[in-house]
Amino acid sequence: MPRVAESIAKLGASVVIESRAGEAAGFLDTEYEARGAKIVPSAAEVFAAADIILQVRVQFSPAFNNRHTVIGFCDPLSDPGTSAEMAKQGVRLFSMELVPRTTRAQSMDALSSMASIAGYKAVLLGANALPRLFPMMTTAAGTITPARVFIIGAGVAGLQAIATARRLGAVVSAYDVRSAVKEQIESLGAKYVSITLGASGEGQGGYARALDEETIRKQREQMAAVFKDQDVVITTAAVPGKKAPLLITREMVHGMAPGSVIVDLAAERGGNCEVTRAGETVVEHGVQVIGPVNLPSELPYHASQMYARNLFELLKLMIVKGVYNPDTDDSILAECLVAKGGAIVNAKVREAAGVAAPAAVDGGQTK
Ligand code: NAD
Repeated sequence: MPRVAESIAKLGASVVIESRAGEAAGFLDTEYEARGAKIVPSAAEVFAAADIILQVRVQFSPAFNNRHTVIGFCDPLSDPGTSAEMAKQGVRLFSMELVPRTTRAQSMDALSSMASIAGYKAVLLGANALPRLFPMMTTAAGTITPARVFIIGAGVAGLQAIATARRLGAVVSAYDVRSAVKEQIESLGAKYVSITLGASGEGQGGYARALDEETIRKQREQMAAVFKDQDVVITTAAVPGKKAPLLITREMVHGMAPGSVIVDLAAERGGNCEVTRAGETVVEHGVQVIGPVNLPSELPYHASQMYARNLFELLKLMIVKGVYNPDTDDSILAECLVAKGGAIVNAKVREAAGVAAPAAVDGGQTK
């Protein structure tokens, strides 16, 4: 966002932007220039000019070296290979996925920003594909009953999906493996679907934990009964760093009425539904199974607005009084720092990459 480029400049940095980087989101090069940023023709020239590189998805570049700090979504737990390559280059790499979900870090929490957008858009995709109306209507031609929407996973995306489906007039019910969200579901006007698993789904830090296959089977069995009455099912179930749990079998899809719609927000992580194919819409037994990828990019204006703000708040921890000096003892920076001084320094990423702890890390890298 041009406005955020100006805010970054006010921290004491000079800002260089790849030409037309903002165009699809509605921001022209001239707007950045008016806010004091310099436009260069290519990403390669940004890499040559800048010390700190802000990206959406981190792209590996042979041009990176130990002068560079790279900040963005780099998926270090599922794809630790890219992080390892960048560590070898000496890059200081920060992962937006690893920003802690704490109160102090809320303004930097890009996962939440993007999940809100995805949850909203998922409902629109479902409504658009459904051959029925969402709201109840009393017309001279008869009364239309409202659509029934079931949301699986009531994290950030799921709660936003509940709110959006309710605003469109649907009758909404929802389920999450963390029973703590029951109140949040009900406060949005949705019905909490109770499922007995015999094991707790609560994990650490407010996240779900991965359930064993037997528990997931029990969950599927009980959900199947709820399923057959739904017009739209939106699934958002995820466990950080793991493949998405398989919650909807082909058989369950066959149990739904033809014309129903499933929107699988976990498509990129393998899908919550057996039928899902990432980036495609599959029609199975008359049911449309939509597997969207990168939904926030379909609302680039507000996705950029939120993400730019998240990055700026993180940068504020790193550039203090005009000097770039990230204090990696700061709890937020310590958690999202992936690589530094030629090594992967984050314990979770090291575990995912299967590498041993570095013997010593060069703390005196580029300041
Ligand atoms: P997520 O994307 O990792 O998962 C989405 C949802 O899927 C979660 O609610 C999870 O419980 C649920 N899920 C996982 N396995 C399931 C299964 N088998 N069946 C049904 N549901 C299943 O989660 P998220 O939306 O990124 O965040 C989860 C939680 O993290 C939030 O609800 C909140 O408690 C916490 N959080 C805290 C802060 C903060 O304090 N700043 C910010 C964001 C999130």
